[in-house]
Amino acid sequence: MTFNNIDFNTYFKNYPDANGYYGKYGGAYIPPELKKAMEEINEAYFTICKSSKFISELRRIRKEFQGRPTPISYLERLSGSLGNVQLYVKREDLNHTGAHKLNHCMGEALLAKYMGKKKVIAETGAGQHGVALATAAAYFGLECDIYMGAVDIKKQAPNVARMKILGANVVEVTHGLATLKEAVDAAFEAYCREYKDAIYCIGSVVGPHPFPMMVRDFQSVVGIEAREQFMEMTGELPDAVVACVGGGSNAMGMFSGFLNDPVDIYGVEPLGRGTALGDHAASLKYGTEGIMHGFNSIMLKDENGEPAPVYSVASGLDYPSSGPEHAFLHDLGRVKYDVIDDEETIDAFFKLSRLEGIIPAIESSHAVAYGMKLAKEMGKGSILINLSGRGDKDMDYIIEKYGIR
Ligand SMILES: *Cc1c(COP(=O)(O)O)cnc(C)c1O
Repeated sequence: MTFNNIDFNTYFKNYPDANGYYGKYGGAYIPPELKKAMEEINEAYFTICKSSKFISELRRIRKEFQGRPTPISYLERLSGSLGNVQLYVKREDLNHTGAHKLNHCMGEALLAKYMGKKKVIAETGAGQHGVALATAAAYFGLECDIYMGAVDIKKQAPNVARMKILGANVVEVTHGLATLKEAVDAAFEAYCREYKDAIYCIGSVVGPHPFPMMVRDFQSVVGIEAREQFMEMTGELPDAVVACVGGGSNAMGMFSGFLNDPVDIYGVEPLGRGTALGDHAASLKYGTEGIMHGFNSIMLKDENGEPAPVYSVASGLDYPSSGPEHAFLHDLGRVKYDVIDDEETIDAFFKLSRLEGIIPAIESSHAVAYGMKLAKEMGKGSILINLSGRGDKDMDYIIEKYGIR
């Protein structure tokens, strides 16, 4: 399929280019001492991702350890409550550790093992990436340092406990707003010190090249499975595909299965409390081009051009930018990016729980809320939503803040 002069039949061969660019977005804006480390990772990945040993080991792990393929569920009662549109969810909440993130963590940790590294380093927001990476590190016998904002440590106590039980070292980050953005900075600094023995496992399709590409490739299993399963279930493609976008990894994984199809694709960003800067984290909707955390993308900036403070009820979505490939697909118009606020999110959280017996992560609830809105607009057809994770981690926080609805 050709869209806006881009041939999507050959899209994955051409994007990113050899320097990690998706159009003008992406690249690797890093200190000189890390250039070599990134090149080493890039070369290792290029060799390994083609080796049948690596591919078959990853396949075996996905099946025997992660429990893949995860199913697609038809949401009969929720669909019925909205009219004539059929809603479906891809159940990444049933992936081991309860979210999509283990898909790229097992890939990154397997790469670390092939490269002879002893340690994995990462930041985490909701704690999901930390848990997923701690799980992968335990599986492969690697050391694991997880940087986490003090605010998120409080908000996500069960995930902190999980990481510690899995043997990871949780490093508390207290400066600034003490959330995901500061944790990213701290983890990056640690990597600069330790890159000879360690590998930095980025938690989304962000950071310097080759991470946005590697994480997309590891997550593409979601879209590939979903397309096949949906065709088998219904005999056709969905009319629309929806996923929430923080950094953008679950969305990129899902979207990559459908970019070359006549399917409308929607990325959902968190509008939080409203449109004022600082009240949301809708970077693609309200941001401008800029460089942060080693890559060029669309980002939310403060008056000094630095990454702006952001907010979302979902700690996994409160990041002031999104992956470069999303910025590219945004400008191209191939994916439409829209927003959902906290209230709509909480409403969807309870609707999916009550009507379907699935408690979604607050992050994923943004996608569910958008799917529900879209269903009313479309009037007929089908929508496939990526349910990126389960909501057990969010239950205490939601009951405390919103009560039972
Ligand atoms: C981390 C997380 C997200 C956001 O990350 P992306 O890279 O945008 O996918 C979404 N959902 C869940 C459940 C998460 O844990």
